[in-house]
Amino acid sequence: MTNSSAIRISGLTKRFGATTVLNGIDLDIAPGERIVIIGPSGTGKSTLLRCLNYLDRPDAGQIRIGDLTVDAAHARAADILALRRRTAFVFQNYALFANKTARQNITEALITVKGLPKPEANARADAILRDTGLADKADSYPAALSGGQQQRVGIGRAMALDAPLMLFDEPTSALDPEWVGEVLDLMRRLAESRQTMLIVTHEMQFAREIADRVLFMEGGRIVEQGPPAQIFTAPQDPRTADFLRRVT
Ligand code: ADP
Ligand code: MG
Repeated sequence: MTNSSAIRISGLTKRFGATTVLNGIDLDIAPGERIVIIGPSGTGKSTLLRCLNYLDRPDAGQIRIGDLTVDAAHARAADILALRRRTAFVFQNYALFANKTARQNITEALITVKGLPKPEANARADAILRDTGLADKADSYPAALSGGQQQRVGIGRAMALDAPLMLFDEPTSALDPEWVGEVLDLMRRLAESRQTMLIVTHEMQFAREIADRVLFMEGGRIVEQGPPAQIFTAPQDPRTADFLRRVT
């Protein structure tokens, strides 16, 4: 059952030109674990998530999800497709197809990434749309949806993959404040269902509520990690303390 796969990231390294943005990240994630990543901007949080989905190709390191191992030294197209089936990405700016309806935005990945026949993809999309409270928006284009509805489609599209790991890159940062709550509510439900999640967010209250573990990143490294009660109330590293003083 892929949805309960253990995940091991080792030595994940990414350079842009002469700059090392990820400095050999090691991270084990237990099935059902909900991890929140915090840290200053420009620290490599997005790059870490993007490398886990091979949206950015890492320069070195291994990603293991269940029985799949993808090593940057010899990753082939088939490995990368297999990895993408196992890591569903939710983008800050939703990244929906503007010329596709809500339903088509969800079926697209099911057809191209999962290889589902169209009738099955449609049935699955409709179930997801009901589940995310968007049944009446199935035939709406993104431009006709609120920011909150668009991001719920973005999350629904990721949910549809039924992936053992969901990656969220600041999923509420682009939203007007009035839409943040409904998106966090949907993510809370996913967290309650023990979906394995890796979430970059500045929503510290949300992190306190749902995270099993909080990682503080700076300079392409995981500087400190622990349960939210420890990280938020008694950070051990002065860089974590300094960051939290500035954002809370
Ligand atoms: P964060 O998400 O923590 O704000 P990022 O992962 O987006 O940080 O970026 C980390 C660093 O990598 C930044 O210095 C950023 O400018 C750089 N960077 C990110 N993507 C690219 C890219 N495609 N080309 C060059 N530099 C990049
Ligand atoms: Mg970022």
